[in-house]
Amino acid sequence: MSDAAVRLIPIQCPRCQTPVPAQVDEAAWVCGQCNQGMLLSEERGAQPLDVFFSAAIPAGGQGKPFWVSRGSVTPVLRKAYKGNQVAEMNQFWSLARLFFVPAFKLPIQEVISLGARFIHQPAEMKPGAVVKFLPVVVPPADVKAISEYIVMSVEAARKDALQELQFNIRLEPPQLWVLP
Ligand SMILES: [Zn+2]
Repeated sequence: MSDAAVRLIPIQCPRCQTPVPAQVDEAAWVCGQCNQGMLLSEERGAQPLDVFFSAAIPAGGQGKPFWVSRGSVTPVLRKAYKGNQVAEMNQFWSLARLFFVPAFKLPIQEVISLGARFIHQPAEMKPGAVVKFLPVVVPPADVKAISEYIVMSVEAARKDALQELQFNIRLEPPQLWVLP
């Protein structure tokens, strides 16, 4: 049996049992009938998931889904061919930061550059009404690895010639937010 055939197992809303028109590469949805959010579990089908919608999306507009997680980064080692940005790095990560990992279909380089931009300019997290949004194709299990790439991108952008970087990252469980 192919993967595609496995995914044809019907997915139903865990609250109202309405069938979900799920595509093969999707990971999370909001029920078109009752607005219940849900996340695909390979073993147990659709599980309830809280989905948050930004109030900044205009009525009738379409939002973009992001996994948002508060992350604490602990620098371990920074070596540069030239220059020294250790103090700047340590200062920046002395605060927990909000990681915004794009959950819609996007080339990985753009996922990382968009995530790095949000580290510096977090979106406003004011909840609003349910709106339509692009399909969620990134599962929460991928959030940590992508967040590590985002940290590397933020650090590579500093004004030294980065040679080697080591750090630890601790993320809170991600929330799904639909942003403008
Ligand atoms: Zn429902």
